[in-house]
Amino acid sequence: MPGGTLTVLEPATERVLRELPRAGAEETDAAVARAKEAFAAWRGVAPPERAAVLHRLADAIAERREELAQLEARNVGKPIAEARAEMEMVAATFRYYAAAPERLVGRTIPVAGGVDMTFREPLGVVGLIVPWNFPLTIASWKVAPALAAGNTVVLKPAELTPLTALELERIGLEAGLPEGVLNVVAGPGSVCGRRLVEHPDVAKIAFTGSTEVGRGIAAGAAATIKRVTLELGGKSANVIFADADLERAAAAAPLAVFGNAGQDCCARSRILVERSALDRFMEALEEAVESLRVGDPLDPETQMGPLISREQVEKVASYLDDEAPVAIRGAAPEGPGFWFPPTVLCPVDSADRSAREEIFGPIACVIPFADEREAVAIANDTIYGLSGSIWTRDGAKALRVARAIETGVLSINSNTSVRVQTPFGGFKQSGVGRELGPDALDAYTEVKNVFYATEEPGA
Ligand code: NDP
Repeated sequence: MPGGTLTVLEPATERVLRELPRAGAEETDAAVARAKEAFAAWRGVAPPERAAVLHRLADAIAERREELAQLEARNVGKPIAEARAEMEMVAATFRYYAAAPERLVGRTIPVAGGVDMTFREPLGVVGLIVPWNFPLTIASWKVAPALAAGNTVVLKPAELTPLTALELERIGLEAGLPEGVLNVVAGPGSVCGRRLVEHPDVAKIAFTGSTEVGRGIAAGAAATIKRVTLELGGKSANVIFADADLERAAAAAPLAVFGNAGQDCCARSRILVERSALDRFMEALEEAVESLRVGDPLDPETQMGPLISREQVEKVASYLDDEAPVAIRGAAPEGPGFWFPPTVLCPVDSADRSAREEIFGPIACVIPFADEREAVAIANDTIYGLSGSIWTRDGAKALRVARAIETGVLSINSNTSVRVQTPFGGFKQSGVGRELGPDALDAYTEVKNVFYATEEPGA
């Protein structure tokens, strides 16, 4: 089960983009078996050679970035300009981790009676489960460090967006990855994902998706003591003080929520504004939201596309029945397509449902605050802790607030969250572990400690 056909749609038109065989538990088991068999050889490949294959893979992705960007833009409905930037990041991620096989060094530790040394060993077969919002980007954050560290991989993309993952599998083979090192299973999470979590031959699960499914994965992984990395939901705060460059903060705020149509775990969907600057900020925000270009994902001028599915549109719309008034509503095309206009609710109370739950769509909540202390309290009034921003011209205040907010990634006078070289991950119920940067390698290796006695016999 399930077998049959997987029908992949284009969210901007609701047309069928591709039909492909739908994997089930049997295909998942077969992929794990192939990965297990390939592991012994792959871990033994000399580091410079493993590095060379990953460099070739990065080259191949860079060569095919336009084709991959078009496919991702059509399948997710994301603006082509964003998809192009994402493919640059995918190639850069493989390039960054291509250097890792030759840099996975251990330590020597001073002890009595001999030499003590540590090695960074691969885990074995790792199961990677990724969502539909940034399909190939998030896959690359997991696949690249996993392969660099000598693991073999079974990658399960979301059923809604499996196409670029399947391309990656093909590109990997062409670039010289041995058969069985990178395997993709395109099937439902409740079957293929669950099987990976339960499978005794899978050493680790790295998952990105909802906090709810993440909880189930953490519980399921416990049965076989699997290592787990979880990148889960967010409800990040964009904290704007009255002394900030308000025009810049307001101009940047819409895409910090409405980028990828709000389907972004880093979305700064709670905009906290110092009350004394609220009117000025809202005026500038309205202008910025109304000038957003919402439409055809393949138009290079487009800034926001459709949502991923009808179900997602319905889920997002349910937040408009909430307590908070709609203050700004941007434009969106008429159907077909899963469209939802960029929407700002104001004023929102921190206790409102729209301020507490991850909406995962283009709805921003503006929450006024009185002072620094209240700003921090509201920012931390959430089960999540993934990302966020602080806008102020007062450097000391920016750093005080940055230290006080319980979140994994923060930016000051900017709304960026991810860079290939820096750690990314959440506090609280936003997850466990870190991706990207050198930290990701820790997540795909075990530390082995070896002691070698050097004392002369009888000494
Ligand atoms: P899910 O968390 O359900 O899906 C993420 C991935 O997990 C997909 O590949 C999915 O497979 C798989 N999966 C689903 N169920 C299981 C399971 N029991 N065991 C193992 N793997 C599983 O997110 P959805 O796509 O359903 O989105 C629902 C909501 O989750 C969104 O509205 C949003 O709020 C949140 N979300 C958050 C993300 C984030 O980055 N923070 C990303 C995606 C969603 P498949 O889809 O093929 O069934």
